[in-house]
Amino acid sequence: MKFELLHLEEDRIRFLLSGVTAAFANGIRRACMSEVPVLAIDEISLYDNTSVLFDEQIALRLGEVPLKAEELDQFSMPEDCQCGGVGCPGCRVDFMLSAEGPGMVYSKDIVFTDLLVKPAFDKIPIVVLGEGEKLVIEGYATKHVGKEHSKWQAGTLCGYKNLPDISVSQSCDGCGRCVEVCPRAVLEIVDGRAKATNTLECSLCKLCIDACEPGAITLSPVLDSFILSIESCGSIAAKDLVAMASEEIQKRAEDLDAKLAELA
Ligand code: SF4
Ligand code: SF4
Ligand SMILES: [Zn+2]
Repeated sequence: MKFELLHLEEDRIRFLLSGVTAAFANGIRRACMSEVPVLAIDEISLYDNTSVLFDEQIALRLGEVPLKAEELDQFSMPEDCQCGGVGCPGCRVDFMLSAEGPGMVYSKDIVFTDLLVKPAFDKIPIVVLGEGEKLVIEGYATKHVGKEHSKWQAGTLCGYKNLPDISVSQSCDGCGRCVEVCPRAVLEIVDGRAKATNTLECSLCKLCIDACEPGAITLSPVLDSFILSIESCGSIAAKDLVAMASEEIQKRAEDLDAKLAELA
């Protein structure tokens, strides 16, 4: 397997994986979305809500706020915690939200008892409070994985595509029609002929093929090479998200290996 980093930001990563199957690439994508644990608001107690939103809507909005923990590893998932899931500082972190209108309540108004935990973004709107309207909430966040609920989904936009292989026949006269129709600026006229100079951006839309004579441009996916684009919800860095997803796959493979060894 070969890995090539194409682009890296705090909350997104794009990389090329070669020498793998589609199932493997898809496994990483799925693990990023459903198997990497993060914190999210789990339970709330509403002491006052005179806003225009129902209690349930407030609860839903709070649950979807991505939370960042400087030491995420210090928290266990409730079912794995020494408290047996009853709830303790090892598996939950309490918060308070108290606001009075007029004004917008933002994610930054959620204050956790553990100062190392906070919303990943300050300006996520929760609700607009009119003059004299109040919102007073207590609750706690727990650590789970995305397959249990989307609020624990660490990877948001996660996708992959085959690396395209584009070739242009010798009969090309350099008219430039394919260059004009390409929405991703993949093609250029080089030395009087069309050439793919930005293959990684090709979306396999085939507009270039339709713009020319049949067979002039051929486009095929490289079957064992995939471009993966992974975006984090903001709770953890994108590169850590991919690393944790890969560790989860490795752990499962080792578990399977151990179980098979017992059968031998
Ligand atoms: S491949 Fe076809 S459309 Fe593109 S420049 Fe050559 S002749 Fe023109
Ligand atoms: S398939 Fe679409 S994106 Fe790719 S080179 Fe052709 S026109 Fe451009
Ligand atoms: Zn606990």
